[in-house]
Parts: sequence; structure tokens; C-alpha cells
Amino acid sequence: MNWQSSSSYFLKSFEDLTDYENIAGTAEPKLKKIIERHPLRISSYYANLINWDDPDDPLKKMVVPSLHELNLSGSYDTSGEQSNTKLAGLQHKYSQTALIIATNNCASYCRFCFRKRLVGLNSDEVVKKFEDTVGYIKKHKEINNVLVSGGDPLILKTKWINKFLRLLSDINHLDFIRIGSKVPIYLPHRILDDQELLNVLDKYSLPNRRLYIVTQINHPREITDKLVQVISQLQRRNIIINNQTVLMKDINDEAEVMAKLQNRLVAIGINPYYVFQCRPVKRVKKYFQVPLFKGYNLIEEAKKLMNGHSKRFKYIMSHKKGKIETMGIQNNRIYFKFHQAMNPRNLGKFFSRKLDKSAGWLDEL
Ligand code: SF4
Repeated sequence: MNWQSSSSYFLKSFEDLTDYENIAGTAEPKLKKIIERHPLRISSYYANLINWDDPDDPLKKMVVPSLHELNLSGSYDTSGEQSNTKLAGLQHKYSQTALIIATNNCASYCRFCFRKRLVGLNSDEVVKKFEDTVGYIKKHKEINNVLVSGGDPLILKTKWINKFLRLLSDINHLDFIRIGSKVPIYLPHRILDDQELLNVLDKYSLPNRRLYIVTQINHPREITDKLVQVISQLQRRNIIINNQTVLMKDINDEAEVMAKLQNRLVAIGINPYYVFQCRPVKRVKKYFQVPLFKGYNLIEEAKKLMNGHSKRFKYIMSHKKGKIETMGIQNNRIYFKFHQAMNPRNLGKFFSRKLDKSAGWLDEL
């Protein structure tokens, strides 16, 4: 089977879910409504990693809709993406970085996605004319790197991936290009079965300008033999792989699980880059977010089980004002530092707030 035929099987409806789990009953109409609002998509590959007999299976929680999504506290734009949008599908928040929303599709839809407002839905936030995006980046010489994101860019046809890499690679003032993707986790065949894609990625990862893929691996059970094969194939093409993990309730909020995850990432040659505080996204916050107090303490506990390489990541809140690192807790205060800042005057700024053990976001302190 090639990747298109092997990926042609996705769970997409309530009825598809009932093949795996006995969920019919009073919840059915509500779950159907949730799926109408935020589509369901789970690759058969990932569905087979789930322990469907365990109601608390962490992999299941990440992709299977739940009635908890009826809780509307939070926002659909927690990082101020709308105000940083310069053209359809192009955001420019930090002066050196441009972010491209290349597609609204993914290999599976994460229920906790912070772009839940657009994944799998019609959206005018996706790039319309790639040439215009390239034109903007060419004009803005302060941009030295581009993050191609979505949705998941690696779900696009190989010829489109080739096109955007070709056009971006022609921009001399870019130091590197990043692609954010969960395809290695959700649909490894898409990479393993497409030699042409591997050739394209190889072609654009040059000695003086490497291509980066940023994965999002959240649980040690996602590191399967197939994922390891994908990573190995990418590494053979000189692609550098960084991982960002989202800290989530009942998924990776135990020190042992977090330590095992980061240690395994290093074992297979992936650089731990960020652990993200789960954003206060509508239909997500209450179900997935861990309070900052708990998050900070469990990460510090986890670090005791990690070697130096595994704990290179920063514990980050991707806030409207910038990327804010949680630095410490002492004497009833919680300390932060701007790792990236929308307002350059805040860069590197160290600040504190009175501790509230239940707060999950800076605005709640
Ligand atoms: S793969 Fe990425 S963009 Fe797609 S639903 Fe998951 S987190 Fe969101």
C-alpha cells in the first residue's frame, strides 16, 4: 500500500468510533454535535495504538471527542494570532520569525489543539497565494527563519511541499526553515512510503541552511517502531528534529511519564525544545490544562530523572505577549522570564506574580 491508500482509512464519524468503543447512549447526540463543531479525525494507525478498553487511556484522550468539550471557558485565539496576521495565512509576531498556516488539515485532529478554531474547518486563515507570502518575507529582511505550520504541512501533496520549500529556499536572508508536523506520530506511512517526499526534504536540507522538523510527541507510547523509522529516515537526510511537548492533565502530568518521554526522545536523536503550558483554549482548558504550580513542580521532579540533554527544554507559556518561561516558585511568588517578546523591550525581562496554585495562565495571576 502507498501512503494515500494506507491513510485512506480514518475514523471520521461517531459511527466509526463505535467500531472501537461502546459509546452509544445518552451521550450520542451531544458527541455528534461536538464532532459537527470540531471535526473528528483519527488515523487507523493511531487508533490501533489506543487501549480502547481503558477509559483513561492517555492517547485516547488526545484524539477522541469528549463531553468535556462542552465547557466553553477560554478563548479560540489565546496567542493573539489574529492581530499578528499580515496576510491570509501569514503571521509576523516576533521580528525574526514568520509563521505560515499552510493548510487546515492534519493527519488526525488533536482535541486539545490551540488552532481548534480552524483545523478541519473552512477558514480564511490559511495561505491563499503562496507567492504573496514569499513577497512579504522577501521585503522583511529582519525575518531570518520561517515556521511552516497549519494544520499539518506534511499532509499536503509532495508537489506542494516541494513548491513552498523551493520558493522559501530562494530567499537569501533566511537562515533556516522549520516545518511543524505531527505526521510522524499520526501517519508515519505518509513519510515512509513516499520516497519522493524524502528526496524533496533531502534536497532542501543543505549544509549551510538546514531544514528543521518540529514534532509534537506528548507521550512515551507514541514513540513506536514506525516513529523511530521515520525519525531515522529524516535524520539520514540531514533534517534536524526538535520536539515540543504539550503538558496535559492525565496524559503526561506525572514526573515519571514526562521524564521517560524526554529521555526516549533524546535516545532516538530528537532535541527536547519546549514543554508548553496547555493554552486556555475554548473547549480545551478545563479538560487538559494543568495549573502552573503543579506543572512547574512536576517538571522539576521529572528533571531529577533526566540527564542534561533530556532537560534542555524550556517550560513555556505561549502568551499573547510572548513566549514566557516559568523560572521558579519561592515565598508565595511565581517567577517568569520573557524568552520571546512581541514588544522587544520585554525581551529577557524577569518578573513575578503572587502565586495562585490554581492559576493556569498568566492572566489568572
Ligand atoms: S496536528 Fe497540530 S494543528 Fe493538527 S490538530 Fe494536532 S496540534 Fe492542531
